[in-house]
Amino acid sequence: MCEFCLKHGEGKKWYLQAANYSDDLLNDVRRRKFIKKFFTQTDELKKSIRKIDSLSKTPAIIKAVIGRLVTGKMKKNHFGQVVPIEDIERIFDFVNSIVRVACMCRHAILGKEHRFCYGVSLYPDGGAFGKIIDGLDSSFLGGPDISAMEKLTKEQALTAFRDHEKQGLCHTVWTFGTPFIAGICNCDRADCLAMRCTVTAGVPVMFRGEYVADADSNKCTGCRQCMRLCQFGAISYSAANKKIVIDQTRCYGCGICRSLCPTNAVHLHNRADVPAAANLW
Ligand code: SF4
Ligand code: SF4
Repeated sequence: MCEFCLKHGEGKKWYLQAANYSDDLLNDVRRRKFIKKFFTQTDELKKSIRKIDSLSKTPAIIKAVIGRLVTGKMKKNHFGQVVPIEDIERIFDFVNSIVRVACMCRHAILGKEHRFCYGVSLYPDGGAFGKIIDGLDSSFLGGPDISAMEKLTKEQALTAFRDHEKQGLCHTVWTFGTPFIAGICNCDRADCLAMRCTVTAGVPVMFRGEYVADADSNKCTGCRQCMRLCQFGAISYSAANKKIVIDQTRCYGCGICRSLCPTNAVHLHNRADVPAAANLW
């Protein structure tokens, strides 16, 4: 269990607790202010990209201090966790609205609209979070001819998430004033600020998933399709055995490597049951 499961989930997966999606949490003024600022800060995001990229040239000791400050601040406001599709489906089972919106990271990095992000709410109309967003100038979230918020059914959303996996995008849940959860993103290292910060720069702004993968060597044919998808460099290929090997100390438990496996050779296990990875978050 990650730190948030203990603090915000009573020892269960925190992102599966409906209370963490409740409008009650939006009675908090600080949280509402954070949400308003978050969705109007595209220039700040562009600055963040430069700061994250400069971390790779920063001396290790300074980077460690900056990293602790950034991670601590993000844990209070906007922290994420990798979530495999079976747990995304569980979230979709209890929320009552799912909307697809343009991704702020892709907007900041690529200057284009790409609809890889989803708002979720317990309330059919998006609840108080939806009202806050509606009151902002979020025109960057949609072009002139399309609705900024596309409403989806659970089935439509799951189909979209399966397509995202085949493109190599891993699913992540996000807080907006922790522990309030309102968003699920589909991330890769090239275009997602959180992935760049966590994986490339080594400053965590999201937890690894509650799972770890392993491959059944009896089923693996060595086709290497899974290697194309892993965003975390956790899969290598043994030319001698003609099979892949998963480094569980690098695995984030996203499960997307399963989506192209023709033999169903990869399985997820509870992180807590895998000694090599149980304490890696
Ligand atoms: S996709 Fe499946 S069969 Fe192919 S290398 Fe990966 S684990 Fe093995
Ligand atoms: S090996 Fe681990 S991190 Fe890589 S795609 Fe598979 S589940 Fe995700």
